Amino acid sequence: MRIPFLPKTLVATGLLTLGCIGLQAGEITPLGKKPRWQKLDPFQGQVTRGEFESALREVYSADSSWKSTIKVDAASATIREMADKEVTYELEFLREGEQTAERNLKFWRAATELPELQPGQPVLSGLKIAIDPGHIGGEWAKMEERCFQLDDGSEIKEGDLTLLTAQILKPMLEALGARVNLVRDSAAPLTTQRPRLLQSRAKLFLVNKGFANPPPTYSSSADKSRFISIQWQAEKLFYRTAEIRSRAEKINLFIKPDIVLCLHFNAEAWGDSDQPKLVEANHLHLLVNGNYSLGELAHDDIRFEMLHRLVSGTHKEELALAMALAPAMAKSTGLPPYVYPGDNARPAGTNPYVFSRNLLANRLYRCPVIYFEPFVMNNKIVAKRLMKGYFTGRTLVEDRLEKSIYREYAEGIIKGLVEYYLKTRNQTETGVGRLQNDRGSKAGRGGQSSNLSRSPQ
Ligand SMILES: [Zn+2]
Repeated sequence: MRIPFLPKTLVATGLLTLGCIGLQAGEITPLGKKPRWQKLDPFQGQVTRGEFESALREVYSADSSWKSTIKVDAASATIREMADKEVTYELEFLREGEQTAERNLKFWRAATELPELQPGQPVLSGLKIAIDPGHIGGEWAKMEERCFQLDDGSEIKEGDLTLLTAQILKPMLEALGARVNLVRDSAAPLTTQRPRLLQSRAKLFLVNKGFANPPPTYSSSADKSRFISIQWQAEKLFYRTAEIRSRAEKINLFIKPDIVLCLHFNAEAWGDSDQPKLVEANHLHLLVNGNYSLGELAHDDIRFEMLHRLVSGTHKEELALAMALAPAMAKSTGLPPYVYPGDNARPAGTNPYVFSRNLLANRLYRCPVIYFEPFVMNNKIVAKRLMKGYFTGRTLVEDRLEKSIYREYAEGIIKGLVEYYLKTRNQTETGVGRLQNDRGSKAGRGGQSSNLSRSPQ
């Protein structure tokens, strides 16, 4: 529902005024589009006030930043369509205790909405999974600043590592009955944009940020002024912003999966990529979408995307999945939890490995998204293990017999998903017993059949 003018009551009470909170005028994020708020119309009367407020409080905006642009009344929420203009959108709540009519408002299905498993079907049957191997890799890895060189001249490129992990994971998931799409299957960008096509947008972005005459280029990754150069901004607009927006389009319009698995490897600051600093630190964390800041919510498109996630109920399934996947990943990798130094992420749920953070990918993909960040690539042992590639069995790394690091990554995901869907689908004892009997012959490569127990998380 669209309301062209700010209701008098709001003007009178001074609510939703922006002067004192330092919002910038109605910004849209780079390469973003002005949101079409009527896309929330199908969600009218679908969410109760209690659900709406608790999602904002617990997931999306724990510090109450949302109050600058959203006002909640007994029957509805009034939301600013544009942060700097008095045009609001009104979202009516479902009354407490009332039921909504069955409506198909989203393309993804929660575990409880999947078809019941039939005898003989493996546990992920019917589940549609998109795997998003983070970054681009290959010839783009250096530009992405996701690449460093070891003493022997070999290169570690995050985008190549995530693609290899995805290629190992896909047949394992398919053997368990899932339908799997890779969002990219080579070290090539999905977007047709390139840095040279984004020069003027990059310059405009910098000028709007107060850099009247930004330098056109930078000399090297050690050049401190590169962050304010047109070249660096155009490259970032290409490999991050345009690329993730293209992936979002592919996921939301074509693949339409039930869940997206975003695969990444973490890193600590490595300095010069030709002589990287190798570290002792190694850790794991998983991300769900949430924790929007005041500055982020001042952007009209970010505010819209957050509300679209909220009314679709994406956060509930996302957190439940993360809570099952985190302990399985921790067990498979043996890694301790990461501790975020800043406030751009905050703990989510009750597992120390799970954090909420607002990233472009987990905001734009309109279904539950789990973001994996295991292993520090420039850890002394991890770097060596990464170079060993994929293999079965164990091999000697620094006097220790180690499994393939990619296999540990993939098996953690498999075990977590099996635990979750086994627990959630076919809840009856007979159903679970039947599944357990079927598993031996159906489990995929990786020998995960011995780990499909129903033990609680
Ligand atoms: Zn990454």
